[in-house]
Amino acid sequence: MNFRGFATRAIHIGQEPDPTTGAVIPPLHMSTTFAQEAPGKHRGFEYARTNNPTRQAWERNIAALEEGTDAIAFASGTAAIDAVVRLLQPGDHIVASADLYGGTVRLFERIWATFGISVTYADARFPDAVAAAFRPNTRMLYVETPSNPLLHLADIALLAELAHSHGAWLVVDNTFATPYAQQPLTLGADLVVHSTTKYLAGHSDVVGGIVVTRHAELAERLHFVQNAAGAVPSPFDCWLCLRSVKTLALRMQQHERNARAVAEFCAAHPAVRAVYYPGLPSHPQHELARRQMRNFAGMLSLDLGSGDRAIRFLTALRLFTLAESLGGVESLASHPATMTHASIPPERRQELGISDGLVRLSCGVEDTEDLLEDVARALATLG
Ligand code: PLP
Repeated sequence: MNFRGFATRAIHIGQEPDPTTGAVIPPLHMSTTFAQEAPGKHRGFEYARTNNPTRQAWERNIAALEEGTDAIAFASGTAAIDAVVRLLQPGDHIVASADLYGGTVRLFERIWATFGISVTYADARFPDAVAAAFRPNTRMLYVETPSNPLLHLADIALLAELAHSHGAWLVVDNTFATPYAQQPLTLGADLVVHSTTKYLAGHSDVVGGIVVTRHAELAERLHFVQNAAGAVPSPFDCWLCLRSVKTLALRMQQHERNARAVAEFCAAHPAVRAVYYPGLPSHPQHELARRQMRNFAGMLSLDLGSGDRAIRFLTALRLFTLAESLGGVESLASHPATMTHASIPPERRQELGISDGLVRLSCGVEDTEDLLEDVARALATLG
């Protein structure tokens, strides 16, 4: 059956009742190896690194949610990004958006640069700046939208055209949006990557990553990397993801409701210098957000004016937990300058606008009033 609705697909694709027992929940296949009828004659599964039924079910599910044809699961979002870079050759060049997750920058600069892959960063809000960064050897345009931690947007359709006009692929890290909010492949992107650790798994209890595509050749190469380099998720992690994705649509609606309420409250509060949330009409790219997203998700950042004020605010919060990561059902708060983005040198952070006064909030799915009360109380301590 071809299900049209997102929530229906999330609940049913890859999650059909087990044909052998009728179990409504797909079984967790822990087997590392699979019996063969004759040498080389098997039912699609030989050895669990290469493929296993639980991982395949998860991959089918996410491929459907991203409107792709193939998904390739990895042990972390970082491993998924690493697999994508392995599609390149030494001497190739990447154009990347300027305010990427710090770990992605570290992967590019500290691992892949030593193997001859170079990167130029450009502000992906401005297509002219991105176009100017292309070189004859550019093979990949890599963007996060919304970006981490400033919630800047990149126009996916426009950047897909730009990348293709240079013979490059567009890769979109869709972690902050999820396929519920935004489907980059439908806008022309070639590859979508996720840290499934975040909204897709959604309960802060699984580290994982996945790449999705519509290109058969890229899918084949990524499956090869998955098997040959071996950074695969465990069947149990895939099973947890299958369980979690069933509530993705519901969770995203509440994440957005909470983030919007906190963003509106903070935007009107005198202790807050600036609020970054694509769902606010005051966000400079709100029109683009409305065009390419159907939900603005639960991430927002606040500029509180100084590192000292940011730390005071973070220490005063009681319901928001001070912790890295995002996208779980529980609300988290972090200080990018000393936590998620600490691996970026201070001068570079200043250039990017990641000031010491910046606080990042991941609004969970708790009751809105409780989150507002916590933020209000913590802001009151700033005087
Ligand atoms: N992409 C984004 C936008 C992230 O925020 C993160 C982690 O925070 C990653 C990728 C890396 O994912 P993982 O931590 O699962 O390796």
